[in-house]
Amino acid sequence: MRFLITAGPTREPIDPVRFISNRSSGKMGYALAAAALAAGHEVTLISGPVCIAPPAGAEMVRVNTADEMADAVQSRINTGCDALVMCAAVADFKPREVRAHKIKKHEGMDRIELVPTRDILSTLALPHDHRVIIVGFAAESDSLTENALKKLREKQCDFICANDITRMDTGFDADANELTLFFRDGSQRHLARDSKVNLAREIIKNCINIAEKR
Ligand code: C5P
Repeated sequence: MRFLITAGPTREPIDPVRFISNRSSGKMGYALAAAALAAGHEVTLISGPVCIAPPAGAEMVRVNTADEMADAVQSRINTGCDALVMCAAVADFKPREVRAHKIKKHEGMDRIELVPTRDILSTLALPHDHRVIIVGFAAESDSLTENALKKLREKQCDFICANDITRMDTGFDADANELTLFFRDGSQRHLARDSKVNLAREIIKNCINIAEKR
């Protein structure tokens, strides 16, 4: 199978030196890429800025902004992939305008006007002749099940991997995570706290199961 995996945060520039971003380390997405490679699949990894070495054998596409990630995902979907795993913590908002020059301290910066970024999954144009398996992630601080099910429906996913980010020992930047997978047929599967490496293997297995059932 050909896997397209996104990882890490995006950076939305304010001026040439400042940006808005989030705490995503990229560890989960890179673990997914390594797990798919280890299972003998082809992997393209579209990565926001992270401090992790690329997994050997993955085709790397490096991006900064949500717009760049959206364009990279769409172009790789167009050239062919069997599964898209959107693990990246794409910024939901970006500054309305990017200043061309560094804003000086004396100029002040009492407000930054933000506009929503394009939602990559919701706006994806999928091929008509080939069914791509779509996996989303949902990092939630409240109403985990309700929010995950809403994203599953709205983002045309086969399943959503949801985690509770109020827990300090799992999720962002941690080496471990605890996930609940919500599937399109209404079933769900809890993956108990484990290393991101082991969880990644389970997620890739679930993608392969879906592909085999088709
Ligand atoms: O940010 P949110 O919780 O909505 O993310 C849920 C899923 O949607 C994730 O898989 C994320 O990668 C994806 N997403 C996206 N485009 C965005 C924001 C998030 O595809 N602009």
